[in-house]
Amino acid sequence: MMSARATERAVLSQGRAAVYEEPIGPAGVRVRERPTTEPVPGAVAVEIRAASINHLDLFMAHGAQRIDPPRVIAADGAGVVRASADPAWRPGDEVVIYPVVCDWECEWCRKGQNVRCPRFGVVGEHSDGTACELFHIDARNLFRKPKSLSWKEAGAFPLTFLTAWRMLTTRARLRAGETVLVVGASAGVAVAAIRIAKHLGARVFATSRSEAKRTRAVDIGAEAAFDSTDFSKAVRAATGDGVDVVFEHVGAATISESMRAVVQGGRIVTCGSTSGVKAEIMMPRLFWGQMDLLGSTMGNVGEFKAVLEAIDGGLRPVVDSVYPLADVEAALTRLDAAEQFGKVVLSVS
Ligand SMILES: [Zn+2]
Repeated sequence: MMSARATERAVLSQGRAAVYEEPIGPAGVRVRERPTTEPVPGAVAVEIRAASINHLDLFMAHGAQRIDPPRVIAADGAGVVRASADPAWRPGDEVVIYPVVCDWECEWCRKGQNVRCPRFGVVGEHSDGTACELFHIDARNLFRKPKSLSWKEAGAFPLTFLTAWRMLTTRARLRAGETVLVVGASAGVAVAAIRIAKHLGARVFATSRSEAKRTRAVDIGAEAAFDSTDFSKAVRAATGDGVDVVFEHVGAATISESMRAVVQGGRIVTCGSTSGVKAEIMMPRLFWGQMDLLGSTMGNVGEFKAVLEAIDGGLRPVVDSVYPLADVEAALTRLDAAEQFGKVVLSVS
């Protein structure tokens, strides 16, 4: 039975691992030792070199994700194959992990539409995660590590680059020469969006509350970066009639300004609601503006392959900081304080 290979059954986090145990914030994630086993048929055991954390891990640590502990955190990982129960991989192969759980067998997965799989989820949320020494995962989740990336970079990019890639290319259909506004520019997914939009030949603008982060946004490719307060005025001053695409993940606090910052017929694409799950929008602005309001989450395996090709073509993640696995609480605390610009990485071995 092929269904016996369902990814979630193949996923195991072993050895030393960062485990969400209590919904009390970063202090509720603790390093524990887990027993090691051989991979089940179709699965591969990867010695993780680097993993990285996302806001998702923080939401879970705060008890906001309705996930019952214990759960090993983190979606992103890169490492070296130790043992494989699938002919596609051999010990010593250097790999990165497609950070999605799905069954790989349903009609949608077979069509390459993993995001529509009824078993679709995030590694480290709907299964155990990559913040561990030895990670077992379905062989179909593994891809060759791009040679141009260091281990910490390879462990940094998967979830944010996959998410931002799908948002900008598949959903917002961004074309070279168009303008993009990336709202809340210091978050991992937003930093990925700046890099990707620039890589695709767009003109990129950004917003941040922090002057230091606005400077960083310009350093990595934004043409200009504006303060978060009433940013639509500054965007219109810089572009004339607004941007073609707004990249959103903040939600309630920014959606109104985002809708003022887009051109008539423009697209707003969002993957998050970090400022609250309910937002109010001016309906006439939406329909008189001929706007597309687009939702997106994570991405398909084909989009992950496209990210890997773009990395071969020069696309790079931004690593904010690196913590040893033992200091996972400090790493989560940095994210909790919104101090980061780019990805907070866990160095595992
Ligand atoms: Zn499926």
